[in-house]
Amino acid sequence: MHDLPSMSGQSSIYLDHNATTPCASEVIDAMLPFLIEEFGNASSGHAMGRKAAHSVELARNMLARVIGADAKEVYFTSGATESNNIVLRGLTDVRPRRTRIVTTAIEHPSVLQPCRFLASQGFEVVELPATRGGVVDLDNALRIIDDNTLVVSIQGANNEIGTRQPVEVIARVAHERGAFVHCDATQLLGKVRFSVSIAGVDFASFSGHKAYGPKGIGALFVRSGSARSAIAPPYRGGSQEGRVRPGTMNVPGIVGFGEALRLVRDQSDDESNRLRVLRDTFEQMIECLVPDISTNGAEADRLPGTSSITIPGVPASMLIANTPDLCISDGAACSSGAFEPSHVLLAIGLSRDHAESTVRISFGRNSTIGHARQAVESIVSAVKTIRKRLRRVSV
Ligand code: PMP
Repeated sequence: MHDLPSMSGQSSIYLDHNATTPCASEVIDAMLPFLIEEFGNASSGHAMGRKAAHSVELARNMLARVIGADAKEVYFTSGATESNNIVLRGLTDVRPRRTRIVTTAIEHPSVLQPCRFLASQGFEVVELPATRGGVVDLDNALRIIDDNTLVVSIQGANNEIGTRQPVEVIARVAHERGAFVHCDATQLLGKVRFSVSIAGVDFASFSGHKAYGPKGIGALFVRSGSARSAIAPPYRGGSQEGRVRPGTMNVPGIVGFGEALRLVRDQSDDESNRLRVLRDTFEQMIECLVPDISTNGAEADRLPGTSSITIPGVPASMLIANTPDLCISDGAACSSGAFEPSHVLLAIGLSRDHAESTVRISFGRNSTIGHARQAVESIVSAVKTIRKRLRRVSV
């Protein structure tokens, strides 16, 4: 399934699961009836509408169960970008008394950009620095989160280097100081267990397509009580999704997301371990053959399938062009194509040159040890070719 035909006709190995994942076949099977005969609007009162609404509630219950929430605290959105925006705009549209917003320098643009917009509107936004190891600097965080802090928005795990962030500690401190806590949990879902209750967060964002569900569907967890009351939903429209996200519900997407979540619920911890072994084997093999390689975030608690490697003197764009048999990423897919090197890699202290010489390999459910071996072979051969070519150019 993951040996995909490339544009040149060669088959490619998909190793970019942090960017997106394919829909599981069970997900497609679950969605199809809702695209064909069961196309009712979940807000309609007739039988077809009620059937659609019932299926939406089953999916809501499934997400609630997977993340340790109550079903009434789960709102479907179009994805994590929208969920992140609803929280940040929703908390600030009412002109709250507190004016500081704390986030981290290694957030996804769908958190950083709304925060920067809020800074232009008069909020004091602090982007906490990260350590060289790829984790937010806790000492700084504990100093910065104060009695004027409205919300702390921190990711569960970084999409580029896979490092997990100290969400629980931050949540505890933020609550002591009366601030809300939002977690962009997009990269956690399906990769590691995550409970909003254990993490102690007030808001959390999720996306279907990172967990073998369809694109264009996601969810927002909003804790009932003071967190729910503090949100002024930014969109106005119908009464769907408790008015937090009005608009006709994407029933096929929600049903597909629900099925993807059922697979996550039934997935054993063995899958995480399998991915960790695959990733570690890949890193050990490549470190042996390219001794000057460095692995970003290697010392931290990382997502099991994610590897971010810096190969000095080998621009990521050239490496990708010279490994047509692989689908790998130069930093985050969302910033690919932009000429600026990854803000995450710069924030953890890589030089511009090293940031531009970094690729991300992210293994997934259908990745095998054969894929890891082929990735090593292909990358090592490309590194040799590129270094030879660049050396010739520079003499
Ligand atoms: N946050 C993180 C950490 C992500 O990795 C992504 C996807 N790259 C998003 C948010 C945005 O998710 P979506 O595609 O569902 O809008």
